[in-house]
Amino acid sequence: MHGGAYVADDVRRYVIVGNGFAGTTAAEQLRKHDAACEITLFGDEPYPLYNRISLPPMLRRQLPEEKVMMRDLAWHEEHRIALKLRTAVEGIDTAQRTVLADGREYPFDALLLATGGRPNPAPAPGASGAHNVFNFQYLDDTRAISEQIDRSKAAVAVGGSFIAYELAEAFAARKIETHWILRGPRVLHRLLDDVAGEFVDEAARTENVHLHYGEEVAEFVRSNGAVTKVRTKKGLEIAAECYGVGFGLTMNVELTHGTPIEAGPNGIRCNDRLETNVPGIFAAGDVADFYDPILEMRYRMGTWNNAGAHGKVAAQNMMGGSVAYHDVPEYSSLLFKGQTITQFGLSPDLQPELEMVRTIDREKRWYRALFFWQDRLVGGIMLGKGNRAGKRKYVEAIKAKERFPKPQWQSVLEWTA
Ligand SMILES: Cc1cc2nc3c(=O)[nH]c(=O)nc-3n(C[C@H](O)[C@H](O)[C@H](O)COP(=O)(O)OP(=O)(O)OC[C@H]3O[C@@H](n4cnc5c(N)ncnc54)[C@H](O)[C@@H]3O)c2cc1C
Repeated sequence: MHGGAYVADDVRRYVIVGNGFAGTTAAEQLRKHDAACEITLFGDEPYPLYNRISLPPMLRRQLPEEKVMMRDLAWHEEHRIALKLRTAVEGIDTAQRTVLADGREYPFDALLLATGGRPNPAPAPGASGAHNVFNFQYLDDTRAISEQIDRSKAAVAVGGSFIAYELAEAFAARKIETHWILRGPRVLHRLLDDVAGEFVDEAARTENVHLHYGEEVAEFVRSNGAVTKVRTKKGLEIAAECYGVGFGLTMNVELTHGTPIEAGPNGIRCNDRLETNVPGIFAAGDVADFYDPILEMRYRMGTWNNAGAHGKVAAQNMMGGSVAYHDVPEYSSLLFKGQTITQFGLSPDLQPELEMVRTIDREKRWYRALFFWQDRLVGGIMLGKGNRAGKRKYVEAIKAKERFPKPQWQSVLEWTA
């Protein structure tokens, strides 16, 4: 500052790559706390922030597209956030502290990488380039699948992931014949055990979904650029006009290649402040392979709430703060009309060595599992409508790092409010 007036050197320059929930939340926070700073927000999609978790209700035709949009161009102008849409950042120069996009260099004092992941293609021949085989990640995917459903009598969802579930649910909700092909022995088999899988299976069948467990697609059979049927490795053939695949995400870490920023297939490595090994460069949201000081381990979390919470923490630290991420990620979702799932903290799909206790009420279709790491409660899953009592208390116990000797585990399951 000179004589109380700002000069250009005093203005902090922030660059954010990825305008999903993590990146846009960070931009909003930066502006909230620093009226003078320059914020440049890059997104390679054509849209300002939209709600990715509203894409399934949009596909089911339960929510109009306008309700999926969360921010418009005017909002960015009002907040003086320079939003560069349809613009992929192509490189980072960590020594010069610039990013390369649009053929020019953008200097930064702090940089946030909130690039998320991209869906993996179907691992069987015939799918690539077919106009009726879809991933389900972006607004454009949702529009395209929706149009194809209108032209279809039958559809096939492939894969054992949440996304494959969302596709099967949407096909069924749109009243076309629905098949779901899963390699595993049950739905979400790395997350749910046999009993929980059974409850979801029952819910799926009440919506007339044909489930094919232990099956893998060998080939998407093509005719004139369209897939006409799938053939499984065990010889099952299913004909349909629409195919949706959910085989997980590949993290968008390519920008770190050739730079000193540490990253791997599990994302961009960062500490509990979400800062990478290169000072002033941060990661947030799906792509952040972060150290969680509550659970005392490193992992990646692909949930909406986590992306927003990360965006806030990253912004504070980009401004020179020292705030650790201190949250227990959680989400709730419908699993077909008849079933709900609530999950908090760690789960066996992220950390297979967790120990579990569970309680089951078959009549009410209630299921509750708690996960322990050594003698600490670290996470849980609740299935069934009205079965969420005690969740707050569990989350608080996880945050407080409470310890429970093994003989107590069963009684912890009984917690209510
Ligand atoms: C269909 C669907 C349903 C879901 N349902 C739920 C749910 O019920 N509950 C839940 O908790 N979570 C759900 N999720 C997950 C949740 O949406 C994500 O965890 C969250 O949106 C991640 O936000 P993000 O900002 O980290 O990344 P993203 O939303 O992936 O945003 C990253 C953005 O960066 C862009 N980008 C990447 N590289 C570059 C580059 N080099 N230059 C410019 N831009 C770039 C990407 O194209 C993308 O637009 C769902 C996801 C999907 C797809």
